[in-house]
Amino acid sequence: MAARHTAIRGGLIASFALSRGGLLRQARGRGAIFTLHHVRPEAARPFAPNGHLEVTPGFLETAILTLKAEGYRFVSTDDLAGTGDDPDLRPFACFTLDDGYRDNLEHAAPVFERHGVPFTVYATAGFIQRSHTLWWETATELLTRNDRVSVDFGEGLRTFTLTDYASRDSAFDYIASFIRGTRGTLREADAVAKLDGAARAHGIDPLGITERLTLDRAGIAALAKVPGATIGAHTVTHAALSRLPDAEALREMTASADVVADIIGRRPSSLAYPYGDAQAATAREERLAREAGFTTAVTTRPGVIGPSPAFAMLRRISLNGYYQRALYVRALASGIPFRLMAG
Ligand SMILES: [Zn+2]
Repeated sequence: MAARHTAIRGGLIASFALSRGGLLRQARGRGAIFTLHHVRPEAARPFAPNGHLEVTPGFLETAILTLKAEGYRFVSTDDLAGTGDDPDLRPFACFTLDDGYRDNLEHAAPVFERHGVPFTVYATAGFIQRSHTLWWETATELLTRNDRVSVDFGEGLRTFTLTDYASRDSAFDYIASFIRGTRGTLREADAVAKLDGAARAHGIDPLGITERLTLDRAGIAALAKVPGATIGAHTVTHAALSRLPDAEALREMTASADVVADIIGRRPSSLAYPYGDAQAATAREERLAREAGFTTAVTTRPGVIGPSPAFAMLRRISLNGYYQRALYVRALASGIPFRLMAG
């Protein structure tokens, strides 16, 4: 883990040097869509397997100021489809936040509003409705608050003795492998149900975590009223769509848009695929997203936006909690790291 981060960081610094050297304009394409998850003040978290999915409000502000200084203009996801033949040749930056966390309203929205920067929150309908849980948060809490944890994902009861970070990390990976379907044969929803059951057996209320961390109907309504805010769809259950049959995957998309429309009176025109990687969002999901009526759909495949992008399979750049420095934002926005990755 540590070695991997060092390698990425080295690559980013090299990219930064290259971007200063004049390659910036060629590599950065038309613009970039940035991905955020949690935006909240730093807190001591003894076990944080999802630390890359959170940044501080201060870093968000740094990112915005860095992009402004680099000559970027800010667009919303609703404007993306028009950037193809936009005469404005300045690069664009588009901010997106996935899942629908409460901290997006409390900590991120004030920063965006203060700087006049539009942003889109992709809200998960099952979280808004308190009917679904966030397995990565449940697993983190289960493994943080216990020294011994037993789980059964169909391979018999497995007990983990949690003595340090590494043992918690490997237990997290074990749980995640069943939910992601890289191990066993459980459907994602069934694996999540088994995790929720194990959490309850250890005194943790998984829906209580949903309640504590994510925006409810009133929260989404309040967020939608913030100047520059757009609410996008992020499915109902947050399952990897590619693992679901056609009809179910389509319903995940449309039903989540219905829920948002019911709250804010406006149907989302943009969708974020849960997980969003090449396994979770394939050509079939791209077709279904168009069928469901979305103008744009975003992935987590890394990259900048070129002159003629696939609007239902847009690449994004993750503003990663491990690299909260202005120079990384400049390097990532340049697109050069992705060239280095490809090369
Ligand atoms: Zn998500």
